[in-house]
Amino acid sequence: MEWKNNAPYVLCLSHDVDRITKQWYHYIYYGLKHPMIQFKSLVLKMKGIEPYWNFEKIIRLEKSYGAVSTFFFLNESRRELSANFLGRYKITSKRVVEIIKMLDEQGFEIGLHGSFDSYNDLELLSKEKKVLEEILDHQVVSTRQHHLNFDKDKTWEYHKKIGIKYDSTIGYSNKVGNEPYKRTKENIIEIPITVMDTVELNQNVYEDCCRTADNGGIVMLNFHQCHFNELEYPENVDFYLKMLEKAKKDGAWITCVKDIGGWIDEQI
Ligand SMILES: [Zn+2]
Repeated sequence: MEWKNNAPYVLCLSHDVDRITKQWYHYIYYGLKHPMIQFKSLVLKMKGIEPYWNFEKIIRLEKSYGAVSTFFFLNESRRELSANFLGRYKITSKRVVEIIKMLDEQGFEIGLHGSFDSYNDLELLSKEKKVLEEILDHQVVSTRQHHLNFDKDKTWEYHKKIGIKYDSTIGYSNKVGNEPYKRTKENIIEIPITVMDTVELNQNVYEDCCRTADNGGIVMLNFHQCHFNELEYPENVDFYLKMLEKAKKDGAWITCVKDIGGWIDEQI
């Protein structure tokens, strides 16, 4: 594949927006491992600095590299007293609508982060896309299913039915993935995750990204915006910066899912 402006490879930036406010039980849970860090984080929160609200920081950083990214917004409707469902946000709340519109106006892509059950529920997925499009007042073309939930017979088929063109659900939450992009039989351009910030971001992971880059492929980063916090996740921010620096030095194309999906769509 020849990339835009003959770039040697692509660095695709994406952020799943699972939570926007840190909950009390997060402080207890993480505080057992890192009490001092969590104490400092709590003090900052009490001063009005929300550790999970990192949108402006991400915008500033990516713009400084001339890049934009995709933010996948979740619209979770299932209510359950478990870690998978507690502490979600209301997508139609004022502050979420405002940040979605602001990101959109600044040239960032807003994608659909299909809720936990939507990967095999066409009606639910369709409804979530419509709500997001009503906020944006334009079409949404990219998606990633939350929790990377996926059904090989249904999910891409449902994406196609609701007008999604690009998906980035394939990948693994507990290891680094290295599958190439492809056009699925449902005519969806699939751009798999290379690395998600839930893995230990060690030298092996970095080298794996470098291999994908050396092969002229797409290094797809999925870094949750709530983890974009130097105090609590310094290794995440460091890794992200390291990838941005490398991509800049190498002259790679750094952009969001729909730009790369659209490019592939024209080439294959
Ligand atoms: Zn998610």
